[in-house]
Amino acid sequence: MAYSAAAMPDKPQAPHLRPQLLVPDPAGIAAAAQALLAGQLVAVPTETVYGLAARADSADAVAAIYRAKGRPDFNPLIVHVLDVAQAETIAVLDDRAKQLAAAFWPGALTMVLPLRAGARIAPAVTAGLPTIALRCPAHPAMRSVLLESGLALAAPSANRSGAVSPTTPAHVMSSLGDRVPLVLDGGACAAGIESTIVALRADGGWQVLRPGPITEAQISTVLGQESDAATSTGIEAPGQLASHYAPGKPVRLDAEAAAADEFHIGFGVVAGDMTLSASGDLAEAAARLYDCLHRAAAADQPRIAVAPVPDEGIGAAINDRLRRAAA
Ligand code: AMP
Ligand code: MG
Repeated sequence: MAYSAAAMPDKPQAPHLRPQLLVPDPAGIAAAAQALLAGQLVAVPTETVYGLAARADSADAVAAIYRAKGRPDFNPLIVHVLDVAQAETIAVLDDRAKQLAAAFWPGALTMVLPLRAGARIAPAVTAGLPTIALRCPAHPAMRSVLLESGLALAAPSANRSGAVSPTTPAHVMSSLGDRVPLVLDGGACAAGIESTIVALRADGGWQVLRPGPITEAQISTVLGQESDAATSTGIEAPGQLASHYAPGKPVRLDAEAAAADEFHIGFGVVAGDMTLSASGDLAEAAARLYDCLHRAAAADQPRIAVAPVPDEGIGAAINDRLRRAAA
């Protein structure tokens, strides 16, 4: 498939004929936990997208993530924890962080927090930043792996860097099939779009670095404070890079109709070749977004057109991803 990551020439470090697909029953969870403890990579389901997990305290294991993804080393990783207590061993959580954790954890919110001195985190995880991105996921299979292993797990999306994110085991296989030995099968991801990333600033301000399933309005309701003015122009969260989630073909947005050479992704009244949501439901659209982009990438048509999606609620995150897919 013509994903942009295919342009990256390096060979897989440890070629596997085929990753082993693990069922998330007790034996599968134990096997995943054992592999992670041994420093191997495991693709794991979360409620957002599939993650490529490694133990966050091992420089070698974390280096393997960057290699498998072809990820630039300036792009730090999100670390997944079981609960607030584990988060506090890694980062400093102030009252705001605790309020957000109480409201949204386990769930699709990542917080960028000060890294705790002496935290057992490989330096490459934070790419040298004094902060660390932490999330407590809700997916039962991922939670079981966190519990069984006792590890904090660094886990970016389980795709080659810059390509479309995976929301099914098949997506993981097509992007990283020869680079990851184990895939834990948790079915299709429910939310389907990456976590919201919020940065809590030392001066008391906060900003959304990446829109996601939890909206800025929900965060500001909990914090009782509006976000800082949009000063976050630096590449602080490289998921914000202009081109990301690239299906490897030109993408045209706001397309009510499509040309003959375009695979048309619909929404609501715009039917398309395949729809994000026939009923115009934004949560369903988010859950189906990456599957639609994967299918569009694999379709015969050389171009992709996408119907307009309203910019409200999680629609803001969908449009954010579509703009980067089109860039
Ligand atoms: P992904 O690779 O899809 O899991 O995305 C991870 C995102 O988290 C990227 O956009 C990273 O830049 C962002 N991130 C991780 N750690 C930090 C941090 N300390 N500060 C800001 N953004 C971060
Ligand atoms: Mg990603």
